[in-house]
Amino acid sequence: MSSMLGWLPVITMIALVLNGFRLRGQLGWLPVLDDEEPGPHGRFQFVLAKGAELPERTMAAAEDWARRQGLAVLDLIPRGLGVTRALDLARAGLGKDFLANRLASAGGAGHALLVAPRVAEREELIADPDTVTTAGLTTRLKRLACTATDFAVAPGLGALTESPAQRAGRLRAERGLFRAVLPPLVCYAALLTSVVAQPILGLGALALFSLQPYLVFASSPVRPADLHRQVALRLVLDPANWARTLAALWRTRTRGDRVAELRAAYAAELAQGTDRFFESRRPDCPWCGSAALSPHVRCADLVLNKPGRFTLERCAGCGHVFQNPRLNLAGLDFYYRDCYDGEGARTAETAFSAGPAVYRRRAEMVAPFTTPKTWLDVGGGHGHFANLAREVWPETAFDGLDLGAGIEEAARRGWVDRGYRGQFPELAAELAGRYDVLSMFHYLEHTREPFEELDAAAKVLSAGGFLLIEVPNPASGYGRLLRTYWMPWFPPQHQHMIPRDNLVRALTERGFAVVAQDRGRADQSMDLTMALALGLNRLARNPNQPWRPVPATWWRRARYRTIMLAGAPLLVLSWLTDKLAHQVIKRGNGGNAYRVLAQRAG
Ligand SMILES: [Zn+2]
Repeated sequence: MSSMLGWLPVITMIALVLNGFRLRGQLGWLPVLDDEEPGPHGRFQFVLAKGAELPERTMAAAEDWARRQGLAVLDLIPRGLGVTRALDLARAGLGKDFLANRLASAGGAGHALLVAPRVAEREELIADPDTVTTAGLTTRLKRLACTATDFAVAPGLGALTESPAQRAGRLRAERGLFRAVLPPLVCYAALLTSVVAQPILGLGALALFSLQPYLVFASSPVRPADLHRQVALRLVLDPANWARTLAALWRTRTRGDRVAELRAAYAAELAQGTDRFFESRRPDCPWCGSAALSPHVRCADLVLNKPGRFTLERCAGCGHVFQNPRLNLAGLDFYYRDCYDGEGARTAETAFSAGPAVYRRRAEMVAPFTTPKTWLDVGGGHGHFANLAREVWPETAFDGLDLGAGIEEAARRGWVDRGYRGQFPELAAELAGRYDVLSMFHYLEHTREPFEELDAAAKVLSAGGFLLIEVPNPASGYGRLLRTYWMPWFPPQHQHMIPRDNLVRALTERGFAVVAQDRGRADQSMDLTMALALGLNRLARNPNQPWRPVPATWWRRARYRTIMLAGAPLLVLSWLTDKLAHQVIKRGNGGNAYRVLAQRAG
């Protein structure tokens, strides 16, 4: 322990330098508008935060830049933006690849935005927004113009000062309270401990902390007007700033009321028990009809921690694994609620944005066989796959279908060309014969009647069309090893876990021929990490979840955060182990998921 403390000042100094370079890189690429020779303007709309002033020549320069770069949205950053706000901006997600990355998300500078009319008409733009709303608008507009949104430094734009309450509101919206506050807390804890344990080196770390803004902003396109003052007084100003921000966060906490309302609604529902959410147990296998069933996994809802016990049974005849007794419609409604929408919307958005490489590979899988004109993604969620697949297939019309409201939002964003909301088998007649490719990524295992879904797919595809299915692999070795804690069992959402041979047979019976398969290659390399995360989640019990029977006190929140934080080093270790194991698994046949591409008879 003492040797750890001995190294702490050095580690802190290295971290300060590395982070300084990282933040420098986030801002260093920014173009600076040249407003010396004003041209014409008037084709774009400008959104100005309350109090912000944008000279005509800067507007003209912004329009000129947007036209030449083919941009539809341009967030204008004041050149003299203060150190605190500029550092927050550097941490908020902008970066060199922001423009090209369709799924990137970043908060804006909160001063002024150029918006093309075609984008402006799809978003409600309020007059005179405050700086917090303006910063959030950049995040929303990026989704509407995901390959045409960028940042630039505007020398003519004056910097606004942000009140602690505004900063608190913005940080809460951008990252959530915890993620915003944790890094500075860790930093100060490291600095204080360093000074106490090793006064000389500790003072060195403090000096480096003070000087860090020079490292970030020296010859940067952003030149904070208060740079020298902030460096000279950083040891006083920065903690004082955080203290004021935290005080404002505390004063403006609003979540409690909303959660209290939801909590009352959940409590009323749960008072009737969870037995009413189940149908009666069926005696035979829904896949092959065999009566040789045995319990395979008994589990709880480890993701959301909603009450209830679930059983997955396995058929000895065909290997099919399914929820038995299964949830009825009321049960599905109860257990899905606040998972992908409502309370869970933000988590879902983050999770869906995490896998661009996977989306790309899925889209590329059809490349050797066809150039699709029309593609329907069934179970399309919020449209993330369709959005990214356009990089691979820019000429293809991508439509999406889902039960949730996310697919309507996807259509509004333009991530899918058309969004259909409803049950796929019920919509199949309307869509008959319309699509060259139909994809179902981690969809079939959620459905109640997979055969009906496959029948619908056969109907909706054109003759010779392709069906691309990805589902979890119930034969994965991790499934046996980790039991309840294997994420892909995902109770209570997963109704059917389909062995690959079974799926291939069902497709063949419907006139499909399998033309390609990804086995190890479809592996998502997260088994151990997710098992640990589920275990920690179970142990810690997030008190903010409205279905928890007791209100969230500060003590329960602190307990939850402490357990999750204590598990963080283990999560890093298991993540590394998963990545290593993936190098082996991806070359084999036994990943945690598999993909099948099948062609309908022509
Ligand atoms: Zn069976």
